[in-house]
Amino acid sequence: MRGTVCYNMYRTYVLSQRDPTPASEESTMNFTDKVTILAESAKYDASCSSSGSMRKKGGPGLGSAAPAGICHTFSSDGRCISLLKILLTNACRYDCHYCVNRCSNDIPRARLTPQEVADLTMAFYRRNYIEGLFLSSGIPVSPDQTMMDLIQCAKLLRTVHHFQGYIHLKAIPGADPLLIQEAGMYCDRLSVNIELPSEESFPILTPQKRMADVTGPMGTIASAIRHQTKGPLALKGASFAPAGQSTQLIVGATADSDHRILLLAQSLYSRYQLKRVYYSAYMPVNQGPTLPELIAPPLLREHRIYQADWLLRFYGFSAQELLNEGENFEEEWDPKTTWALRHPEFFPVEIQRAPKRDLLRVPGIGVQSALRIIKARAHGSLEAACLKKMGIVMKRACHFITCGGKALAPTGFDPLRIRSALSPGPKIQQLSFFDDELKALAEETFLKQPDALWGWREEDVCRALQQNAAQQALLQEERTRPLGGF
Ligand code: SF4
Repeated sequence: MRGTVCYNMYRTYVLSQRDPTPASEESTMNFTDKVTILAESAKYDASCSSSGSMRKKGGPGLGSAAPAGICHTFSSDGRCISLLKILLTNACRYDCHYCVNRCSNDIPRARLTPQEVADLTMAFYRRNYIEGLFLSSGIPVSPDQTMMDLIQCAKLLRTVHHFQGYIHLKAIPGADPLLIQEAGMYCDRLSVNIELPSEESFPILTPQKRMADVTGPMGTIASAIRHQTKGPLALKGASFAPAGQSTQLIVGATADSDHRILLLAQSLYSRYQLKRVYYSAYMPVNQGPTLPELIAPPLLREHRIYQADWLLRFYGFSAQELLNEGENFEEEWDPKTTWALRHPEFFPVEIQRAPKRDLLRVPGIGVQSALRIIKARAHGSLEAACLKKMGIVMKRACHFITCGGKALAPTGFDPLRIRSALSPGPKIQQLSFFDDELKALAEETFLKQPDALWGWREEDVCRALQQNAAQQALLQEERTRPLGGF
């Protein structure tokens, strides 16, 4: 009881520290302008998938966060668009170099009250525009004050509007653990973005934060989920963040290798039981001596890391097996094929006898197809002709397996011959710098991002666009491959 009284007094004190003066341009803004600015400012956060929540609708209220009640769609750049994804404010006193909302950027600032966000969520939900809310914020005054505003919004939705839909809140780095415990009682998922893959990158790119400011809240959330800790002002009957916690890592903003990124992801999964680590290709929205000179985000690299993340979580691989110290993934091959080509001693795998662990290491055999193989061979011997029907991608798997002792491809488990058989062939078409279409695209890009391209020569833009087009083509081919494992 005493703890609750102190906690209430602390909340009152923190709220009295609120920044009372809106930016001058804000006073003339209408509500639509503010929402446009705040939705635009939120779009670089990729950690908003809602999968995993099982909140059940009980008693009066609207909506449901159970799987059938919420759908996820992704825009062409992979961002989730089924949630209202917005910031409470894009004003921030921090100066994270990679962030569009950093205090040193001269951009229009806006803020909404928790009441306005709650009302907007309900209005959009009733119109069937959205299935839930993904709410984050800049930090205009202090982490605690921002965390309280986020809690206030979720609390209004749950207790006043009786909203039962999905809510994903950001846990603000540096916020009081009690506030984080309270936030978990009103939302389905909490996430705190680590953004940078190494402790050494923090002082360079986000000088006001330390890695411990991020891992501290992660530890609080993990422990509260494990023990279902209720904060002092917990919502009666609610469980703590039933959809768990997630984080986001930026790929390509620092010199950190894919090996380093995967090692960090692996340790976050095991130490804090994260549901997901999201990877976001670095978007060059700012310039500066500490930032890489990129025009296009490294999407293919992001894609390879996502594939490797899948291998960590579902295929029994470890980060140390997939890459050596300081290495990046080859762009040409998915990580499992790369591993298989480096380990010819592991192959061939005999389909009739191999344990599940070995089957999962064969390129082209996914989790479902491995289970189908095990189930089917319990009833008799398998024919090579059946494998394709089980969802195995034979184009890749045939080089690494035998069926009843017989090889299925003439490459003889020789990595060089397999490489040339699997090679996607010449994909990168050398375009002239003076190609009309490319020039038009470069001009359009110059017009769209005059600041981002400051100091770039036209031929550099053309070269970057060519590289990006080649990456997009490879990525597109990967995405259109039939499912069934990689
Ligand atoms: S604290 Fe968050 S919003 Fe503020 S500059 Fe850093 S990343 Fe951007």
